[in-house]
This record gives sequence, C-alpha cells and structure tokens, in this order.
Amino acid sequence: MKRREFLKNMIFVGAGAFILPQLWTTKAAEAAWNADGGAAANGVDPLLGIPIQETNFEFSSLQNRRTTDAIVIHHVGNTNRDVSAAEIDRWHKNNGWAGIGYHFVIRKDGTIERGRPMDMLGAHCYEHNWHTVGVNIVGEFDNHEPEPRQMDSAASLLAALCRYYGIEPDRQHIKGHREYNATACPGQNLFDRLPGLVAMTRKYY
Ligand SMILES: [Zn+2]
Repeated sequence: MKRREFLKNMIFVGAGAFILPQLWTTKAAEAAWNADGGAAANGVDPLLGIPIQETNFEFSSLQNRRTTDAIVIHHVGNTNRDVSAAEIDRWHKNNGWAGIGYHFVIRKDGTIERGRPMDMLGAHCYEHNWHTVGVNIVGEFDNHEPEPRQMDSAASLLAALCRYYGIEPDRQHIKGHREYNATACPGQNLFDRLPGLVAMTRKYY
C-alpha cells in the first residue's frame, strides 16, 4: 500500500470510529427520551447545563416566583438516611402542601433530583420563599458530615443557579436556612462548611 492510500484508509477508519459512538449516543438519548415520556432520565438540564434527575411530581397548585436573589441551603435533619425527593414529596403532601417544598434535593451519591420547578414559589423558608431557591442536601448535619460528592454536586448546582438567575456566588446570596429562620437547619457541620461550599461554587461559576 502506498503511503498516500494508507493515510486515506487511516482517515476513513478514524472517521468511522468517531461517527459510530455519535450515532449510538443519539439513539440512546432518543430511547431515554421516549421511555421517560419526554425528558431524558438524568439528562443535562437545558437551562442549567448540568445533569438533573427528573422526578415529574404532580403539584396541586403552584405560583410563579418573580424575584430570585438568594439560594437557601437545607438538610433533612431528622434522619441521616439517603432520603429521596419522592419521599420528601410524600411528607410535604401529607402536610397538606402542593408537593415537595424544595426545588432541588442532593442525594448521598451526589445525584441532583428535581423537586418543585425552579421558577415556582417554594415552601422551604418562612417569609423568604418569594425571593429564594431551596436546595436540600440530604442528611442530618449536626452529628454527621455531608458526603464529598454531595458538596461537589451542590457547588455545581449553585454555580449553575447563580449564572441562570444572575446571582453573585457569595455568602450574601448563598444562605443557610438558620440565617433566615429560627432553626438548626442545615446543621452545624454543614453550616460551618458554607464558606468552603461558596469557594467551590466560585470555581464552577
Ligand atoms: Zn431548612
């Protein structure tokens, strides 16, 4: 084989190797889309640009939130179990609420699950729902520590939310629940880590 032909074949093989995974990925994405009745499971959220696990909860009623200038961090508090957004949704519906009050739930493995749609008024921080997004990092953080994967996911979510809403990623705009209401939430250990979480957020921002 002449050198020129050899190079031509190499380019062809290279192109084939590149195209096949592309086609497979498209088909896989289509399958996920159809299986989930719309959105791809754990797909990249088009507005935030990070993977969000869709939950498709039903809400009895929701109102739009017109202002967003802060993000409130919560923990679950009464248990350090790996509680799901679906379980919190059941708790909050049992309270007689429209559905889960938080906008995002970060599981122990770092998966970010969707709670209430992020542009809707939440039910997570008394007298401050009108201007805040609620993020629950699941666990009990007075006696336990959050998982490193949770903190990493939280930083990427906070950075994405700050970009989307035009919020400066600093301690003025990323708050622990206890800074607004008389509560231990999000637990002393997580509260002590908020400056570090904000520093990580700025790296992602
Ligand atoms: Zn809270």
